[in-house]
Amino acid sequence: MSNQEYDVIIVGAGAAGLATARTLFDHGYNLVILEARDRVGGRAHTNYDLLHGHPLELGGEFIHGQHAPTHELVQSFGYSTLQVPRKETLRWGEPAQVAISLEQLSEPRRSRLLALYTAYTDLLRSTPQTDQSLASYFLGLGFTPDEVNIADILFAQTCCAPIDKLSCLDLIHEAQRDRAGQSDFRVRQGYSALFARYSESLPIKYQRVVAQIEWAQGSVTVHTRVGGIFKARRCVITVPIGVLQHGDLQFIPDLPLSKQQAIATYRMEGATKLIYLFDQPMWDADLAYMARVGQVARWWTPTYQMEAPLAGLTAFLTAGSARVLDDLPEADALLLGLQEASELLGVGMTILQSHLQHQMRISWAHDPFTRGGYAYIPVDGTPARAEMCQPVEHTLYFAGEAYATMSNPQTVHGAMESGWAVAHTILQDR
Ligand SMILES: Cc1cc2nc3c(=O)[nH]c(=O)nc-3n(C[C@H](O)[C@H](O)[C@H](O)COP(=O)(O)OP(=O)(O)OC[C@H]3O[C@@H](n4cnc5c(N)ncnc54)[C@H](O)[C@@H]3O)c2cc1C
Repeated sequence: MSNQEYDVIIVGAGAAGLATARTLFDHGYNLVILEARDRVGGRAHTNYDLLHGHPLELGGEFIHGQHAPTHELVQSFGYSTLQVPRKETLRWGEPAQVAISLEQLSEPRRSRLLALYTAYTDLLRSTPQTDQSLASYFLGLGFTPDEVNIADILFAQTCCAPIDKLSCLDLIHEAQRDRAGQSDFRVRQGYSALFARYSESLPIKYQRVVAQIEWAQGSVTVHTRVGGIFKARRCVITVPIGVLQHGDLQFIPDLPLSKQQAIATYRMEGATKLIYLFDQPMWDADLAYMARVGQVARWWTPTYQMEAPLAGLTAFLTAGSARVLDDLPEADALLLGLQEASELLGVGMTILQSHLQHQMRISWAHDPFTRGGYAYIPVDGTPARAEMCQPVEHTLYFAGEAYATMSNPQTVHGAMESGWAVAHTILQDR
């Protein structure tokens, strides 16, 4: 056991942990970050090998919003972003057909898709008193089950949630507080480069899997699986909610019942990427986003407007779709994805396979330090977020994407804002 007693121990060096640590460290706090992996960034993880130095995002990929605070970090390090017109240029694929722009769709189909978008926007601006699932909202407006299935792909899967569970009140709460905006961007240098710079000089101990947190007011002893015991006056826990739900961290004594109930309220489903790299683009340069009703429904081009040596295509699956693909052997999952891409692009399998240089599946549900994609709130669960933001006896604090209450949870910038908020609570609570 180290004899040193820290002001604060931060568990996890993802976006939230680093945001908390950076703020407190810059205010002179004596702290340590205990991180299970051998890198920073958590669910933001960039591969630089496959595209010979160019970034390929395996987890968090976009900056959601032109006003997201991440832009300030990007600029402060002399990095830059690339705007990606995803929602604006969506191409939709009817069964067994090539994906085409909404303008090219048949009139009845286009107007129904646009009606879904309008209804979703109306929902986010509304102020209902009672909660319901997103599916029941669309059904209540007279949309057919097939159309609700499309809404699942376009809206609920983005939230890593099944449409029949996702809380409308929580979506509204989030939409009415988040000021980030609607445009999407990629960090040209990759999220990992950003977090490498942001974490420079922070005291991080890697490969420290925290297993147990013994606490009393004003005193915390953190036990790692291998790598020692650490003591502090306070502890900020930033591990994903899936890790907490799985019981990977034991609290002695148990957390207060209100915290346990809040943790149990959240849902964390899988998020899986299928990534294909080709020796040349099998699509036109404007393709940024396409979707269809299918097992592998949502696709984008990670090398969009990038001078990369290979052309990339990513399928992003969440919730039930991710589970199905995760349960298949990797080769079968990748083959299924490629078959659906072949239909969407109108390019034969033989041609796609002859140009394919690399393919891989990344299943975040199988990652023991994540145990899912990102957390959503089911019907009637909204108060859980505020509960998790309450410190426990000025000693235990929770930060992470799931606890962003004043911005967009489920995102990198939401996680950072949650981390900054906890840091400011601690600063005021000296
Ligand atoms: C596939 C995918 C795509 C996404 N796409 C986007 C996107 O395009 N844009 C966007 O803004 N967001 C996206 N997100 C969400 C975004 O990545 C997350 O919201 C954000 O990175 C979460 O940050 P965090 O700090 O809350 O958690 P994490 O990044 O998960 O950090 C938690 C840290 O705790 C560590 N840890 C876990 N258990 C222990 C333990 N026992 N002991 C010590 N350390 C531990 C982990 O290793 C990790 O480093 C995506 C996420 C996924 C999975």
